[in-house]
Amino acid sequence: MHRPVRANDRLGRALLAIRVSGLYAAAGFLYHGCSGVSPETACAQEQPMKRLEGKVALVTGAGSGIGRAVALRLAAEGAHVFCVDLHAESLEQTCEAARQAGGVALAGRCDVSSEDEVRATVAAAVAAWGRLDHLSNMAGILRFDHFHDIALDDFKRVIDVNLYGTFLFCRESIPHLLKTGGNIVNAASTSSHAGLPWGGVYSASKGAVLAMTRSIAVEYGRLGLRANTVSPGDIATPMSKSVKMPQGVDFSWMDRCKALHGPRPPEVVAGVIAMLASDDAAHINGEDIRIDGGTLS
Ligand code: NAP
Repeated sequence: MHRPVRANDRLGRALLAIRVSGLYAAAGFLYHGCSGVSPETACAQEQPMKRLEGKVALVTGAGSGIGRAVALRLAAEGAHVFCVDLHAESLEQTCEAARQAGGVALAGRCDVSSEDEVRATVAAAVAAWGRLDHLSNMAGILRFDHFHDIALDDFKRVIDVNLYGTFLFCRESIPHLLKTGGNIVNAASTSSHAGLPWGGVYSASKGAVLAMTRSIAVEYGRLGLRANTVSPGDIATPMSKSVKMPQGVDFSWMDRCKALHGPRPPEVVAGVIAMLASDDAAHINGEDIRIDGGTLS
């Protein structure tokens, strides 16, 4: 049985950070350790609940948008958080925000579509604090094309990141999550449920994430592991703000993807994921929660 991480074990934490930092640097990855919990972290709550004390979480896509908000929220709720993204600088900002808020976080740069990097990253997260209780797969990419113009390489890249990346992190994490009775939350999308104009590739990847997660849930549920998805829609993040539309589209068709009350910040997703990661969701498995402001209702 794994013992919970002791949040106040500062010396042990520092030694671990140094040890893991060395290991990770040797593996050629950027590594950055920090500790701390923030108002941003607290996700608009002055005093966040502490449902995740003694738990260790790994969050991909933690350098931006929803992944960053999730990392900060889990840290605010007491988890030790291993933050993963492509970009060293943005990861550092996430860890700095967690430290400012009094949480504990380490950063590991990783391309989620690389099998070797994912394997090394999960190993590093487990080595850091000796256990893994939660995995949030939030890394993702979005592109819009006329379906008849989609290049095969572009199709493959979206699948590589959104589907294979999620698959690889689940596969490598499950043996560790089984030891702790842990859980997974994967990022699906409203496009997993309804057509997204010009989003054929993205929809294909997100539909597959939803189906794959349900299969994980039923395969491992009897062994104490839970796996759920969230399906965000109209969340204001760098992804949704910077997406390029193909030429000649009637943009009003995108109204079908808009929340009834307008876009919302990524913290609205982070709060739901914190609940799913906690014992409050002990009887929720194989579920998908739409967080779309009523778009598909
Ligand atoms: P975001 O702000 O772009 O954050 C995604 C992060 O993942 C970025 O830092 C991105 O880096 C990183 N990433 C991309 N490819 C990667 C790779 N190969 N390895 C490691 N990290 C990689 O997007 P978001 O809106 O927060 O989206 C988070 C998740 O929610 C995604 O899976 C997305 O599909 C899903 N989602 C979002 C919405 C929404 O309305 N925003 C709706 C439905 C679903 P780069 O900046 O370099 O790409």
